Amino acid sequence: MSIVIDHEECIGCETCVELCPEVFSMIPEEEKAMVTAPDSTAECVQDAIDACPVTAISR
Ligand code: SF4
Repeated sequence: MSIVIDHEECIGCETCVELCPEVFSMIPEEEKAMVTAPDSTAECVQDAIDACPVTAISR
């Protein structure tokens, strides 16, 4: 199981980073988020998946 962000879909709203900063970060100089801990089982991952406005996060 690996957490993935579809970079084509991500609009860089930073919601996932705010909800779950241990797993998501913003890519410097880009309006996209990235996954820093793809194997994380943190509960906030699901919160971020549910909150992403463009459903760009999957696992
Ligand atoms: S919540 Fe979704 S659209 Fe917003 S930064 Fe994260 S992956 Fe991108």
